[in-house]
Amino acid sequence: MEEALQAPLARITTLKIGGNADCLCHPQSAAELIDLVARLKEAGTPWYVVGGGSNLLISSEGFRGTVIRTTQMTNIRLEQPNLLEAEAGARLPHLARHAAQNGLAGLEFAVGIPGTVGGAVIMNAGAHGSSISAIFDSAKILDSATGEVAELRSEDMAFQYRRCALDPARHIVLSAKFKMPSDVPEEIEKRTKHNEDYRWKTQPLGFPNAGSTFKNPLPDKAAGFLLDQSGVKDLKVGNAAVSSIHANFIVNLGGASSHEVIVLMKRMQDMVRQKFKLDLVPEWKTMGTFTDDEMSVWQQKAAEKKQ
Ligand SMILES: Cc1cc2nc3c(=O)[nH]c(=O)nc-3n(C[C@H](O)[C@H](O)[C@H](O)COP(=O)(O)OP(=O)(O)OC[C@H]3O[C@@H](n4cnc5c(N)ncnc54)[C@H](O)[C@@H]3O)c2cc1C
Repeated sequence: MEEALQAPLARITTLKIGGNADCLCHPQSAAELIDLVARLKEAGTPWYVVGGGSNLLISSEGFRGTVIRTTQMTNIRLEQPNLLEAEAGARLPHLARHAAQNGLAGLEFAVGIPGTVGGAVIMNAGAHGSSISAIFDSAKILDSATGEVAELRSEDMAFQYRRCALDPARHIVLSAKFKMPSDVPEEIEKRTKHNEDYRWKTQPLGFPNAGSTFKNPLPDKAAGFLLDQSGVKDLKVGNAAVSSIHANFIVNLGGASSHEVIVLMKRMQDMVRQKFKLDLVPEWKTMGTFTDDEMSVWQQKAAEKKQ
């Protein structure tokens, strides 16, 4: 297993922000990952599991502990004619291509989502009217509290909009199976291409970003629309800016800090609250050291649950 000390984390996120981790490990298999977590637990070392780092704000102060990155666990196999199994670190666009080549439909939405299978299951990633939950069959999950691995099915996962019942601080996705109907490969390719073209037109893919910053507060209220209408598109704090192409995307213009991003997020929340009396909850997860004031941006969660 590759291990690096004092590893810079900015490189492992799509936003390109983050200080150093005490240690960064790349397990090559589920067995190596399980063994690593057991050793860290015994030593009392804090850990954090990361996939593509595409939905993550990492503190510029870094992370005191071990980061476990799954991106070398990438095996994909067709278990049955309509059942595709992938290890946690397999990239969604790669999985979507693999499925399409085998005439399996249902992952066309995922071709532009730069995350891994593990991150996509935890986040119930979705787009274009579909999400992981629509094709999810089961997943092998390590419960770090007990050291046991269980195969969880859809009914155990309680999938909701951009979340599920698992807690990434405790449960680690080792692999997942997806049940997918057959279709003509050319038709799947057509839908995939349509989704890809739409992204190139509507997302600022030229700058480091982490996708949508905030969740949609209500099914019929897109965060991007509310932000746009609130006039956030000119906002900039240091080297963090709201994208001029998509109001729910924050872009790193080069060397932005996590603090700059959070101050910008607060301003975006304030402007939407003022105009629409709605609280925006961040979609992103955080890793590392943040102050209580910085974390208050995430505390809108309480308001979200009450809805
Ligand atoms: C350009 C761009 C476009 C995007 N478009 C979309 C979109 O259309 N729809 C959408 O839903 N998202 C989108 N995203 C966000 C992101 O790609 C998804 O949320 C993705 O599923 C995150 O996966 P990841 O592997 O990068 O997770 P990470 O960012 O690495 O981690 C996110 C969370 O998942 C946890 N996690 C990761 N792997 C595991 C594992 N194996 N076991 C347990 N927990 C794990 C982490 O601890 C963390 O809490 C976009 C991002 C970008 C940059």
